[in-house]
Amino acid sequence: MYTFGNGQAEGRSDMKNLLGGKGANLAEMNLIGVPVPPGFTITTDVCTEYNQQGKEAVTKLLKNDVEKAIKHVEDLMGTKFGDAENPLLVSVRSGARVSMPGMMDTVLNLGLTDSAVEGIAKKSGNPRFAWDSYRRFVQMYGDVVLGMKPKSKEDIDPFEEVMDEVKKQKGVKLDTELEVEDLKLLVKKFKAAVKERTGKDFPESPWEQLWGAICAVFDSWMNERAIYYRRMNQIPEEWGTAVNVQAMVFGNMGNTSATGVAFTRDAATGEDIFNGEYLINAQGEDVVAGIRTPQQITIEGSRRWAALQGIDESVRASKYPSLEEAMPECAKTLIETQQKLEDYFKDMQDLEFTIQDGKLWLLQTRNGKRTGAAMVKIAMDMLRENIIDEKTALKRMEPQKLDELLHPVFDKAALKSAKVIAKGLPASPGAATGQIVFFADDAEEWSEKRKKVILVRIETSPEDLRGMNVAQGILTARGGMTSHAAVVARGMGKCCVSGAGEIKIDYKTRTIEMSGKVYKEGDWISLNGSTGEVYEGQVNTVDADLSGDFAKVMELAEKYTKMDVRTNADTPKDATVARKFGAKGIGLCRTEHMFFEGDRIKAMREMILAKDEEGRREALKKLLPIQRQDFEGIFLAMDGLGVTIRLLDPPLHEFVPHQLATQKELAAEMGLTIEEVKLACDSLEEFNPMLGHRGCRLGCTYPEITEMQARAILEAALDAKAKGADVHPEIMVPLVGVVEELKMQAEIIHNTAKQVFAERNDWVDYKVGTMIEVPRAALTADRIAEVADFFSFGTNDLTQMTFGYSRDDAGKFLKIYQEKGILKNDPFAILDQQGVGQLVRMGTEKGRSTKPGLKVGICGEHGGEPSSVKFCASLGMNYVSCSPYRVPIARVAAAQAAI
Ligand code: PEP
Ligand code: MG
Repeated sequence: MYTFGNGQAEGRSDMKNLLGGKGANLAEMNLIGVPVPPGFTITTDVCTEYNQQGKEAVTKLLKNDVEKAIKHVEDLMGTKFGDAENPLLVSVRSGARVSMPGMMDTVLNLGLTDSAVEGIAKKSGNPRFAWDSYRRFVQMYGDVVLGMKPKSKEDIDPFEEVMDEVKKQKGVKLDTELEVEDLKLLVKKFKAAVKERTGKDFPESPWEQLWGAICAVFDSWMNERAIYYRRMNQIPEEWGTAVNVQAMVFGNMGNTSATGVAFTRDAATGEDIFNGEYLINAQGEDVVAGIRTPQQITIEGSRRWAALQGIDESVRASKYPSLEEAMPECAKTLIETQQKLEDYFKDMQDLEFTIQDGKLWLLQTRNGKRTGAAMVKIAMDMLRENIIDEKTALKRMEPQKLDELLHPVFDKAALKSAKVIAKGLPASPGAATGQIVFFADDAEEWSEKRKKVILVRIETSPEDLRGMNVAQGILTARGGMTSHAAVVARGMGKCCVSGAGEIKIDYKTRTIEMSGKVYKEGDWISLNGSTGEVYEGQVNTVDADLSGDFAKVMELAEKYTKMDVRTNADTPKDATVARKFGAKGIGLCRTEHMFFEGDRIKAMREMILAKDEEGRREALKKLLPIQRQDFEGIFLAMDGLGVTIRLLDPPLHEFVPHQLATQKELAAEMGLTIEEVKLACDSLEEFNPMLGHRGCRLGCTYPEITEMQARAILEAALDAKAKGADVHPEIMVPLVGVVEELKMQAEIIHNTAKQVFAERNDWVDYKVGTMIEVPRAALTADRIAEVADFFSFGTNDLTQMTFGYSRDDAGKFLKIYQEKGILKNDPFAILDQQGVGQLVRMGTEKGRSTKPGLKVGICGEHGGEPSSVKFCASLGMNYVSCSPYRVPIARVAAAQAAI
């Protein structure tokens, strides 16, 4: 238990692992003189114990400490928990090591009872406020602690039902129109609903309430939303959440009270503009929940907001004044405080504040979530401002987020002719095009069918997380820049337009009305998350701009990295894209992909179905010029850099037709009978294709394939050289498990090289290496290194064979394995360092024990995943190779591993 309050604290901001982000920063804010309501933090360790030992054991252990800590708060506040005259009310909030916005539970106004509410009414001189707080508390406690929150969209919310009934009786529309007597009635009816649903009375003892809330917060660590969020963000379950118990301050005490959230810089663009939203006479989640339209903190922000909404300045000033206009003194203190916090924490802060009767209190500060663009701009600005140094700036990069900056944006020309059908707030930048869906479940279902969707909601809640994750973009009718949709979308780097107030969504008919026209589920729309515009149909996009701050980040990565990043590219076009992103060569060119284009597949099929070597050689002759031409393009695109070209890898049956009509066509072309073709195709079928007749097993059984490919590569290299390119071909043999396989292949390649060089009377320096992707290759890497000039770990196959999970079929159970906690991650996405990683380590060490200078890299999918890249760097690999769009991600991850 760590207490804080009145300028003192037992914790500090560097104790986030133990106190959670919120608890650690609440402590630190106290220490630097920022006004924070007193309270205490129960550590994340307790959460872990709670999950292991259960509720009973842990609450018993905590009892004394919690009572002491409450006493500490009572002393500072001059109030008493459960007192009828002068009661202490507290908030109970979760707070994990990293923020998980909205995923876990919170209870406010705790300590209110039938007697305490009278005390608050008297003390505040505001009975309406007291009773409004009480009814909110009963509702929140019922939802969070007593499990009365509706589980699905079909469920009835008992509290909402009562609320609607009371409002109807009274003949009013808004909660704010309810009077004291109505609120009293609400409390009574809410409690009756509790009794009916749970069979128990609502707890009258504040202590019972407190224990209920503490346990509920711990329990919420394991709720479905939190688990999903953790999985998405790779947050370990062992971390647990802290619980923060803090004296309540009230933003809903009347018109001199308010509550709000703010960012010290713009979380969407990164601009150094203090911005935020507030609501007068409101509490806690009202601002982020998107129920009332929040107002802006600064005058400038307010004017910009009004312009976007098409609201006239005079209407704005009277109806939606900024905090600077409505409460100038408080706004001034807030502006000073935000600067103090950013200067102190040296990063963009996301603040929560409450103004109670004209006094400002800070409830939270944390490093704000931001888009990829904002991440880059803020770090580079702070570097220029000398607030942070180069290494810190690089460490601020979340490599995956760079992805957002690489993808296309709307084509300006196409935008000119695009029809704007609605306008909202530019909540999270990006260009998104997709088909309208209205429910998160549908978003998931449609995207599983590879459809692109835009999730359209009146407002989003944490339940929509899964749907938001798979959607191209999110459009909401309600909610400001800090609404749940906006915050979560920015965190995901997902395009979002929020608060498009003019649109009319009808969930029942699954339609949306925009600019007088009705759009149905499945209709295409496009969103511009940078301007807030919504367009009809699909709008064309163009490549992103890679200059400016992005280039500066890449420059820094180059300065600090000790490992190269190559790319996996099969075509000159991909190679050119990757080079633009800074790839230092090609780590994997999968030659087979070329065979699927156009008419090439025919020659390939002829080769496969040939009856003898002679027939195969005939067909290979047709393939040779095609391959040579492709390779030449790649060598030219990678002028001066290494190009690793892999020999044919997939099983042959992948190339032959399985449909009768195509088989007939092939039979006619090859002058064979349909029976012959059918028989040949059937004979190639494999039950476990990825372990069958593939990789170097093809080259070992049909050496002429290797011969043709080696010839195509080397002739292409000579052709490119003749055009002035500096070529470095590296021929890579796949799926080697026995050194003899590599020996045999290397011999064919060297012999072919001799022939080609003699024929052309010219030569190029070339290398022959192998993939290490069969466990036996890793185990015998010292032998294999005797023959290989380089190693490239094929961690896709190595993962498949180490786990014994078929790459093509594992999808069926991997999700369930993760849900059940058998696996923490998908090992095909994130390298399993404990298992597969050990084979990679062993292979590297053994290989270098034979050849100390052996060049080692990785070209499996893991080569572009930051944690795997860092692991490869720790093994001293020379390079990682990944798909073009992941090159910048890998470059930054590699640099981070080196600093
Ligand atoms: C691998 O196995 O990791 C690899 C790069 O090869 P492929 O994915 O083509 O089997
Ligand atoms: Mg492989």
